[in-house]
Amino acid sequence: MTQFDSLTGLPNRAFFIEEAEFLANFNPTDENHFSIIFADIDRFKELNNTHGHLCGDGALKTVAKRLSSLLSSNDFLARVDGDEFVVIHRNATKTSTSLLADKLVKSFSDPIVIEGRDNYLGISIGSSTWPIDGRDLSSVLSRSDLAMHKAKVSHQSYVCYNKSLGYEYDREKTISIKLSQAIEKNQLALVYQPKIDLVSHDIVGFEALLRWTEPEMGFIGPAEFIPIAEKHGLMTEIGHWVILTTCKQINQWRTAGFDFDGRIAINISVQQIEQPYFYERTLAVLKNERISPAQIELEVTESILIKDPEKIIAVLSRLIRAGFSIAIDDFGTGYSSFSYLKKFQASVLKIDRSFVSNVTTNLLDQSIVQSINDLGHNLGLKVIAEGVETIEQSDYLTSIGCDMVQGFYYSKPLVADKVLSFITNNTDQL
Ligand code: C2E
Ligand code: CA
Ligand code: CA
Repeated sequence: MTQFDSLTGLPNRAFFIEEAEFLANFNPTDENHFSIIFADIDRFKELNNTHGHLCGDGALKTVAKRLSSLLSSNDFLARVDGDEFVVIHRNATKTSTSLLADKLVKSFSDPIVIEGRDNYLGISIGSSTWPIDGRDLSSVLSRSDLAMHKAKVSHQSYVCYNKSLGYEYDREKTISIKLSQAIEKNQLALVYQPKIDLVSHDIVGFEALLRWTEPEMGFIGPAEFIPIAEKHGLMTEIGHWVILTTCKQINQWRTAGFDFDGRIAINISVQQIEQPYFYERTLAVLKNERISPAQIELEVTESILIKDPEKIIAVLSRLIRAGFSIAIDDFGTGYSSFSYLKKFQASVLKIDRSFVSNVTTNLLDQSIVQSINDLGHNLGLKVIAEGVETIEQSDYLTSIGCDMVQGFYYSKPLVADKVLSFITNNTDQL
């Protein structure tokens, strides 16, 4: 009873650990290599939530039977957690491990029938091999687990552990530790990229973008460190720093005699807006720096609405009432849900760079850009295209009536000191 799982009859986690420890105690010879194959069922929680726990239990039993039927008598299968199974594959080579993993994946192409209903589930598998990927058991287990998580997030069915995966993991860990000290160590900075009106050619705004230089690691781009900051819960403080620093900068520009009537855009991450006092904290900063919300545009992606749309919409509405404007960033790459779009009360739709970069060479991207532009206009929004690098792209966007552009063709993001000279030099010239 203490070694088996009562639902599936398979060995449980305790038995699995015992078995693996036993095998890892031998001296490694060519024959006694073994692989740990972690398998996690995809969409199991949805199945449980929509059809109930009995249906979930039924699915787990079917999965246990299917997986067992594919193993040789040398292999050991256990259910180690809710929808997590693990195989100890003995006499393993990388090839035999990946062949077995492929078989396990294929067994999910047939539906799992519960109460006469077909359910299509998937599986994410990661493996690592003792002693090749680690001499001690705990590192082999964590590496196999890491490979499984990589499979999950990258939507692959099977990932075999390799050194670069380990390197990626170590780098992420180091970044998260160093990033947690970046504010106090004064390592963060903002740069500002101009936004240009395609009709008047005026500079209508700037987008504040984060930069981080760490003394030992050098420059690390936001596309790499922001997802890590979000994963490790650091984005609330960093995001707050961005708001504070932008406001102080606007103040400094004002003191220097530059009274800009466009908006400065700030990117807001999901984590910030989910904070209970995001509204209050943000307004307090603005008040303190004597900045009006009318000077600020908040760039948000549709993903902020996934978890708790009603609550977030309420926060956005308060922000809009206070005078902020909202731009929907990266439009077209995420959910692009019309019902969300309606609820956002945004003023600006931002066409993602990935569509703009091929707009003059790829007809499909051209259609997408034109459609997003029309959609935005039909909904009464202004449309901006980001990532404009050539005059051809700019001309095309002008021809379809896109309102604004941003991109290297006009200017790279500028350090604060260069913003003033950019405006002085480019008035009436863009
Ligand atoms: P984003 O919001 O889509 O920002 C636009 C990115 O495109 C910026 O990259 C910008 O430097 C880059 N870019 C602008 N024009 C061009 C162009 O013509 N060609 C090319 N190839 N790239 C161009 P960056 O600065 O590396 O930022 C990457 C992402 O990191 C941003 O994407 C945004 O999602 C995030 N990010 C940056 N700063 C912040 C911040 O303060 N807060 C939050 N939450 N996210 C930020
Ligand atoms: Ca943005
Ligand atoms: Ca973007």
